[in-house]
Amino acid sequence: MKLFDKCPLCGGDVVEKEVDKLLKGNGNTAIVKVKAEVCLHCGERLYAPDVIAKFEDVRKRLKEGKIENFIEIGKSYQVA
Ligand SMILES: [Zn+2]
Repeated sequence: MKLFDKCPLCGGDVVEKEVDKLLKGNGNTAIVKVKAEVCLHCGERLYAPDVIAKFEDVRKRLKEGKIENFIEIGKSYQVA
């Protein structure tokens, strides 16, 4: 089921894809694989409400350090 037939920003065609979403909290980063609808024209990603709720949950867990279920995949670096 598609959320959008056309991109709400530019009116471009939208396709469903699996994407990596980067979430940050408390200096830590988590990558979440989710389905998104991606605009072929401007690249805007559109998420379903349950996916957005999942992002909020992951951000909250990062902030509170409740990351027992998360898998460590390496360190993150910032390049100035
Ligand atoms: Zn667009």
